[in-house]
Amino acid sequence: MAKIAKKIKKNAPPPEGYTKIEPTLKKLQGRLKDAQTNQNAADKTKSKTQALWPIYQINHQISRYVYDMYYKKKLISRELYDWLLLQNYVNADLIAKWKKQGYENLCCVHCILIADKNHKNPCVCRVPKAKLVENNESDEKVKNLQCITCGCKGCASTD
Ligand SMILES: [Zn+2]
Ligand SMILES: [Zn+2]
Repeated sequence: MAKIAKKIKKNAPPPEGYTKIEPTLKKLQGRLKDAQTNQNAADKTKSKTQALWPIYQINHQISRYVYDMYYKKKLISRELYDWLLLQNYVNADLIAKWKKQGYENLCCVHCILIADKNHKNPCVCRVPKAKLVENNESDEKVKNLQCITCGCKGCASTD
């Protein structure tokens, strides 16, 4: 993680520019809340992990939005970006990975954890589709590829 340039406190009011991103941020957070509520009332047809997929995916969306606004579009200030990190609006670990080559599209940090209980390393969603074909995996497997942790359908940089 890059060092925080100007010290900003967690309880500081939102820095300038916040109003620009607030509507999108609030919309996504609303969706996250709904997903969390739905997860508690998870229907029996879904497994426990599957019920978590929407939560992973929305968390990813929120982090991606802020990441794009700061690193790609350069529409928000460092101060605002740091403030958002402090509010835990975004997943700093995930964003740190996106800056690395080969991890630009990483779905969630769990998928690269070797010790993650759900799958052996590397997670199937991290394997490029071309590689699966090369390994003579069935079309069915390539087509229906989905990570059991977060429901990712493939997040290799080349996909
Ligand atoms: Zn993935
Ligand atoms: Zn995965």
